[in-house]
Amino acid sequence: MADQYAMQNPVSQYPKLDIPEQRQNEPGLDSDMKPKADHGEETYRGSERLKGRKALITGADSGIGAAVAIAYAREGADVAMNYLEAEETDATEIAKQVKAAGQKVVTIPGDISNENFCKELVDTAHKELGGLDIIVNNAGRQLFCEDITEITTDQWLGTYATNIHAMFWIIKAALPQLPKGASIINTTSIQAYQPSPTLIDYASTKAAIANFTHGLAKQLAPKGIRVNAVAPGPVWTPLQPSYGQPMKKLTQFGEQTPLGRAGQPAELAPAYVYLASQESSFVIGEVIGVTGGEHLP
Ligand code: NAD
Ligand code: MG
Repeated sequence: MADQYAMQNPVSQYPKLDIPEQRQNEPGLDSDMKPKADHGEETYRGSERLKGRKALITGADSGIGAAVAIAYAREGADVAMNYLEAEETDATEIAKQVKAAGQKVVTIPGDISNENFCKELVDTAHKELGGLDIIVNNAGRQLFCEDITEITTDQWLGTYATNIHAMFWIIKAALPQLPKGASIINTTSIQAYQPSPTLIDYASTKAAIANFTHGLAKQLAPKGIRVNAVAPGPVWTPLQPSYGQPMKKLTQFGEQTPLGRAGQPAELAPAYVYLASQESSFVIGEVIGVTGGEHLP
């Protein structure tokens, strides 16, 4: 298969997904997705853009986080991977890929909706990697609900804790460890700007993340730490079949984009590589859309 530098038609770069009806419990597993997603296993070629760097990535077992872990390793970074315990099998596959790239990998399962765990996560990553200079806040929770009166308080608070509170806790814990030149990359969504009526809790956390990114970036820029975010459009990951979408939207997932297809996790990784590397030294407080043409406002 061609790597990410080979010129090709983006419309046909990946076949249009033929998505059968499927449902997984939350959190979903990559290993149970039909069809399987591309995390760059065969397609991502590194060129030392992150040589010697040390990265913590949340939600690194599957989907976008897994693609970022593979890309970072192939660019020469050591990687600490966080995910939920239920995702150990997916995490093992991605950890193997990091090792195969010749990099150190540390796996730290645990629930980031808990403040104490967030502190432990950062401390363990820092200790085991012998430093920390890239934080990728990528973990997220998305449960669709047609009617606000049916969203439970548990769902509302849990989505907020995982998606935005955890970013606050992780960054607060990490800052004393981060050297000048470090990069923090948050994951927001096109949903921050174009919320679906079925995702009001999720979409509003993503709007909060975009705003948090803009403000925090201005606060930390003078200290030599850059903060940016990536806003994916529809990407084929286990988030979607595990109650992320109503079934009729799931089977047509991503077809509405100008490209006519959903993105693959591997197509998101280069934006995270760019924001982590020194190449983006003057890029501060930015949200980079990777949407297949649906664009940010
Ligand atoms: P994914 O399911 O592969 O990844 C999400 C990960 O979040 C899971 O693997 C899990 O490890 C982690 N997670 C969830 N709750 C957690 C918790 N309490 N503690 C620790 N980890 C937890 O799906 P993905 O689509 O790759 O999601 C990655 C990010 O991309 C999310 O922030 C998501 O909101 C965002 N995003 C995805 C899409 C899309 O279409 N897939 C679009 C826009 C934004
Ligand atoms: Mg997962």
